[in-house]
Amino acid sequence: VDFKGSHILSVEQFELGDVESLFAVARRMEVYARRQRVTRVLEGAVLGNLFFEPSTRSRISFGAAFNRLGGAVRDTAGFDVSSIVKGESIYDTSRVISGYVDVLVIRHPREGAVREFAQATNLPVINAGDGPGEHPTQALLDLYTIQRELKKEDLRGLRGLRVAMLGDLKFGRTVHSLTKLLSLLDDVEFRLVSPEELRMPEKVTELARRRGHRVRQTPELADGLAGADVVYVTRVQEERFTDRGTYERFRGAYSINLATVRGLCKPDVVLMHPLPRDSRLGSHELVDDLNRLPNLAIFRQSDNGIPVRMALFALVLGVADRAEQAAREVTWFVPATIGRYDA
Ligand code: ASP
Repeated sequence: VDFKGSHILSVEQFELGDVESLFAVARRMEVYARRQRVTRVLEGAVLGNLFFEPSTRSRISFGAAFNRLGGAVRDTAGFDVSSIVKGESIYDTSRVISGYVDVLVIRHPREGAVREFAQATNLPVINAGDGPGEHPTQALLDLYTIQRELKKEDLRGLRGLRVAMLGDLKFGRTVHSLTKLLSLLDDVEFRLVSPEELRMPEKVTELARRRGHRVRQTPELADGLAGADVVYVTRVQEERFTDRGTYERFRGAYSINLATVRGLCKPDVVLMHPLPRDSRLGSHELVDDLNRLPNLAIFRQSDNGIPVRMALFALVLGVADRAEQAAREVTWFVPATIGRYDA
């Protein structure tokens, strides 16, 4: 893709080389993300950060990434505070906001809705999650995390990766995007662990198979975890179930704690989750007794969202080569550990 001016709607837009170039920019953004330097390369630019569905981390992460480039952020959260409740169409909302900002980040509960926003504007639109559809920036930061955690120089080094994904693979958009993105690599083994009713949509598994990967679907935790390099846990997507009883039946279907990891996983397994992890009694996908285990990469993973999203903004707005020119020292207090990836 030519990033400049492009919409980022699905990971299907990317080839491996595009992802490598994005990651090269993201690595250069680390110094700003970790508060070692400040850049103002997007000073004067405004981001419209529109979230029509609950979100904390994605919304703040997109906003903070834009701020760290020196840009300003205008955001909304929820339908109840937006004019959509007054009957405004997506077309009108998109046209109006486009008059105010330079780039749009949209989350919407309906699959395909973000594409409709994009069709109504000539500004770049980034999909921050469209219902059970896709969440492309999450998949990018997930892959960035996998490469870092497994200490590979480049993405080709991930050849032969064995990844277990578990939980709600039907409604979990992050695993849809991640499976498609990982399918750009060579020879991946996907172990998809879910109850029969929450299996990954066939169009996603088909794409992985078509690209020559092994895809194994199983309801058995032990079967999925054995020998996996990465275990990617997801939340049962409560908000997508029309029937409460069905949701209750599946929540907590897979709960991973320290004993599970010690008993069923490789010692150097990387444990990931797009967050939020559901820590309510009866859910507990990833139990708190894992918090001190170095294998638990979930907070390094969410930290990685900043440099990856900064890189995406810088590329889409065509300033990726100029960030260093607009940089200076940090003058405020920053804890000594913050710049360290493994802090
Ligand atoms: N935050 C992620 C998403 O928006 C994962 C989740 O909500 O479970 O898809």
